[in-house]
Amino acid sequence: MPRTDAVLAEPRVAAAVARLGRDLVKRSVTAAQQRARLGEIAPDAVADAALAALPPSATSLRRVLNATGVLLHTNMGRAPLSAAAVDALAVAAGTCDVELDLASGGRGRRGAATVDALLAAVPGAGAAHLVNNGAAALALVATGLAAGREIVVARGELVEIGDGFRIPDLLVSTGARLREVGTTNRVHPRDYAEAIGPDTGLVLKVHPSNFTITGFTASVGVAELARIAGAHGVPVVADIGSGLLVPHPLLPDEPDAATTLAQGAHLVTASGDKLLGGPQAGLLLGGPGPGAELVAALRRHPLARALRVDKLTLAAVEATLTGPPTPTRAALDADPESLRRRARDLATQLGAAGVDAHAVDSVATVGGGGAPGVTLQSAAVSLPERFAAALRAGEPAVVGRLEHGRCLLDLRALPPGSDAALAAAVLAVGPAPRKG
Ligand SMILES: *Cc1c(COP(=O)(O)O)cnc(C)c1O
Repeated sequence: MPRTDAVLAEPRVAAAVARLGRDLVKRSVTAAQQRARLGEIAPDAVADAALAALPPSATSLRRVLNATGVLLHTNMGRAPLSAAAVDALAVAAGTCDVELDLASGGRGRRGAATVDALLAAVPGAGAAHLVNNGAAALALVATGLAAGREIVVARGELVEIGDGFRIPDLLVSTGARLREVGTTNRVHPRDYAEAIGPDTGLVLKVHPSNFTITGFTASVGVAELARIAGAHGVPVVADIGSGLLVPHPLLPDEPDAATTLAQGAHLVTASGDKLLGGPQAGLLLGGPGPGAELVAALRRHPLARALRVDKLTLAAVEATLTGPPTPTRAALDADPESLRRRARDLATQLGAAGVDAHAVDSVATVGGGGAPGVTLQSAAVSLPERFAAALRAGEPAVVGRLEHGRCLLDLRALPPGSDAALAAAVLAVGPAPRKG
């Protein structure tokens, strides 16, 4: 049996130690030695086996190809970052000038370039600030403007975001009181007008981003709310959810930041990792004038420090905004015919290798990140159901969708550049059912 020290000293293993850390590699060597003792591998194969069992990087997170047809999958980290954002992360990861003015050598304004990029991307925005996520943006607004006072909000907009988290609970946790108006399905301008009083901190409009209510419904738009609340000097805050900055033709019902500000919202809050296609972040945008003043005040609130984004987020958001279209945007805009062509090409390639694969039409969705009820024409490779579990166990893992006893690999959320990896993952599972 080769000694642990000897195996660790072997150049390839030493290189792995330099990359992944000694503990992780040593555990792998110990496990390989154990296999050799049991006679599963030859003693001179210990180094190879230890190296083969190592993870690709020091994170236990595994790369997943999202073939579900759900563009923004919360369980897969929502938006995948653009290559530009990934490059920016690498720059920011080291020491960088995040709060340094290299020209003067003095202190620089943290995140200024990211805020400028945000202002350039949202026509009509007068000020912007970034926090950790959409929930943090709401928490900052509620704390700063309504702690100990009332938030007027429609009953039909008391949203559960996911994993049991509820916006009304978040708001109340800041010390604000909710003044609920209307009913589940209907709310009218007079409901707001009657509720607003000297104790009102803000009027909140929450986008129902993960459900739709249809039938006998009525709601009050931001423009009308701004008129009603403005008469009392009360700010209107719109939580638009998805981070769409300007209108998108495929998503006519999805509110965007520019339009919402133009309608008179003083403040808009949104997530960075939904339709914006960036990293987890919370956007706080103010309209010109009073909205911008509110942003400036909230940026200086003590709680803002606790919700402050790191240099990685600042870099990735800036690159998301200034770089080429994000993978999320590309997936949204992908033309169905090109998706069908990709599905056919993949099915042909897999079929030639003996896999029972064919191209089928499919229906993709935006996901919990926004645009509920919107469906997007898509295309998929249909495989026998047994592929689902085997593909999830691969490297990279592939997660498809089960439908009518078949495993569908929907191409809408995957960039064309990942088709080769997708084919390789399917071929690694192989054409014949695995034994056991
Ligand atoms: C997603 C969402 C949130 C929460 O945003 P996070 O970035 O997940 O914290 C809040 N409000 C709405 C309407 C949302 O869609």
